[in-house]
Formats: sequence, C-alpha cells, structure tokens
Amino acid sequence: MTAVAGARIGELPVVDRAEGCWIYDVDGNDYLDGSSGTLCVNIGHGVREVLDAMAEQGAQVCFTHRSQFESQPRRALTEEIHAVTGNRFREIVYTNSGSEATETALRLVLHHHNELGTPDRVVVLSQYPSYHGMTAGALGISGHPARRRNLGGLLAGAADLALVAPADPDALVPDASDWSAALERVGADRVAAIMVEPVGCAASGGAVVPDQTWRDLRELCDRTGTLLVADEVMTGFGRTGAWLAHTGSGVLADLVATGKGLSAGYSPLGACLVGDAVLRGRSAATAAIGHTMNGNPLSAAAALAVLRYLTRHGLVDRARAAGELLRLRLDELAGCYDWVGPPRGRGLVHGLPLHQSAASYAVEPLAHRVCAAARACGLVVYPAGVDHRTQSLLVAPPLTISDDELDELVRRLDSALRRTAEAQGASSR
Ligand code: PMP
Repeated sequence: MTAVAGARIGELPVVDRAEGCWIYDVDGNDYLDGSSGTLCVNIGHGVREVLDAMAEQGAQVCFTHRSQFESQPRRALTEEIHAVTGNRFREIVYTNSGSEATETALRLVLHHHNELGTPDRVVVLSQYPSYHGMTAGALGISGHPARRRNLGGLLAGAADLALVAPADPDALVPDASDWSAALERVGADRVAAIMVEPVGCAASGGAVVPDQTWRDLRELCDRTGTLLVADEVMTGFGRTGAWLAHTGSGVLADLVATGKGLSAGYSPLGACLVGDAVLRGRSAATAAIGHTMNGNPLSAAAALAVLRYLTRHGLVDRARAAGELLRLRLDELAGCYDWVGPPRGRGLVHGLPLHQSAASYAVEPLAHRVCAAARACGLVVYPAGVDHRTQSLLVAPPLTISDDELDELVRRLDSALRRTAEAQGASSR
C-alpha cells in the first residue's frame, strides 16, 4: 500500500479497481478513499455480498417498470428502510439520485399545499450556503452561486428562491430567529416548506445544524402549517453515526431526501421518505410520478444488500466511534498549520476549514490545490464551500475504515498540506 509520488497534479488518474477503502489506478498508484467518492461509498468498495446480490438479481430481472410490476428486492428494500428508520415514515418514493429525491420532495410539498387549498404557498426557504442538487427545482433552492451561474433562465421557473443566511456573521447555519424572520419577511401564508441539511457538506464543509434548531424548526413549521424537509442525501444511512442525522434531535422532518449512501455507489438510487402529514389520505408515489428507472430491481437489490451489510457489521455505531478518532486526529493536524481551522462535523463526516483571502480564493481556491496535492500523495478528499469563508476539505472515509487506515489517511493529508504550503510559501507551525 505505497503511494507513488509521481501521480500527476491537475490531471485525473484513470481508475483500474477498488477494494475496501482503497482505489488503484491503471499506473499502479494507490489512493486512500478519504471522502468515499463524494460521501457515497459508505461500506467501502468491492463488497462481495453486494456484488453477489446484484449478480443474482441481474440474472433474475434487471428492469421492469414500477407501474407494471412490483419487484421483490424493491418490496424488501422498502421494508428494510422502514425498519432502520423506526417505522416512522408512511411511504418511500424512489428516485435515481439525490437531486431527484430533493426535487421529489419539492413536488410533494407543492402538491400537498394545492390539495389543502393553499396553492399560494410556493416559497421554499433554504439555507445559505447549501446544495440540494442539479435538477432545476433542486438547484433553484440551493444557495450555491457557482453551480447556479448562467442558469437564471432555467431556474426562473423553479420554486421561489428564499435563501436564509445567519444574521450572526460568525455563525455557519441559521438559527431559529433567522428562520422565523425569513418566514415573516416572505409571509407565512406563502411559505410551503423549509429545507435543511443536517450537516452542510458540499456547500459549507461540515456545518452542523444544532439539535435545538431542529426542535425550533419543528415547532415553527407546526405552528405555521409549513412542511419541514431534511436533505439527508449526504448524511442519510449511517454517515453521521445515526440512520438519519436529524432524528437525534428528537424531531422528525415531514419529508427526507436521501441518495448516495443508500446504495453506496453500487447502483444509482435515491429515495424520498414521506411522513404522515404529507398528502394525508393520498399516495405520494402517485403524486410524485417519477423517472423511468426509479427504484429499478437491480438498484433495489444493491441497496437492500448495502443496508443489510450496514446492520450486520454495526457500521452505524462504527461511524460514531471512528468519527471521534477522526476528529481528534484532524484537530491535532489542524494545529500544525496556521491556515487550517479546527474540524467541524459529526460522525464520519468532517470539514477542515482552509483560510485564504477573498482575492487569492478568486484566483484559485486553496481547497482545489490541496485536493490535487492529496491525490499526488495517494489520498482522495473533497473540496467544499462556496466562498473563501466556507471553503474546506471534506474528510469522510467509508464507515468500514480501520483505525490504522485512519492514521494513514491523516498522514497522507499532512503530506498534502505540507506540499501545498511549500508550493505557495505558506507557513506551517
Ligand atoms: N443534496 C445534497 C445535500 C447533496 O450533497 C447532493 C450531492 N452532493 C445532492 C443533494 C444531489 O445528489 P446527486 O448528486 O446524487 O443528484
């Protein structure tokens, strides 16, 4: 397991194969997958049980349309999702991606208010910064300027944009007073839903929404007839040390968008979990309609095997324990560089803030340079943030990572930070 120092910076290596937490390119270099791709490969690469389940399902049937047949893996997957989320959702609507899951949540929110006779409720409040996906509706409510650039025409027809930034310049996420001020500004009778990422990942690099804010949001939504939506595409299915990250607060969102970790990258799949209050007495799946491949038998079989693997190996608990070790190691590492801030996050997702001036960030974000250096050191990490204030490195290895591999991850990250510092003459303590 040695990293080859000659890996090229600024060009993508060509992947050959992957196993566990390790990816190998065609030139024989190894990479520790320090971000599970993009917080996707939660059980690691090449898990035999999942591959076998997919092969078996493939030999049975890969595709039938959900309007024509139910499939056994899909039915079993639905039961499994209900079981691991405590039987607290009424219905599961499948999608092919996280974007489609948040988009589905938006569609259900609008259907819900139309059915209730409140069609003027069309505004969805969301955090700034945030990222909810690349489809027009999901991007339309995302506080991510770079990804929205040049797309005004496409986004104009999306749900009204109402981004809620914290009033406190030092805070990374809005608190209860920010949300209620926004609700008042827009008018409670126009707000359809509030969408929140429990741990902001792509846009804010590990910014955690406190449990109290979830409780305040639940109360605010109940009082004003607004639906509460959790975007758990990054955090769902174990990543933060819980099956769903927001439920540790003791409250439950009305809709939860999931993706990524659900099928852990083995086959595309997302899901929108639908609570009791949404479209009461009506099938959300019928209202949401959907895309051709949604919940296809092959992806369902993969996800079913992934969830069973997570349960059998106690990986949700492992994420909590390994997360504590990761945080400790990252804290020590951050202390060695005056341009690296202390880690923030939960379980096995942590952001390491990188300090850079706005002017220098505009030339090239430091996070991009560190990620390229990390690749040359045999490590994959993910650049996050929307500006110089939020830029960070996301560290989120597979939940299967061993303590030794965590140490190796931090060693390689240290090399990448040192290499970056040397290249730009930045200081390290
Ligand atoms: N929501 C969040 C919070 C995400 O981080 C992402 C992807 N990074 C999405 C939605 C979109 O998911 P996908 O890329 O699978 O469409």
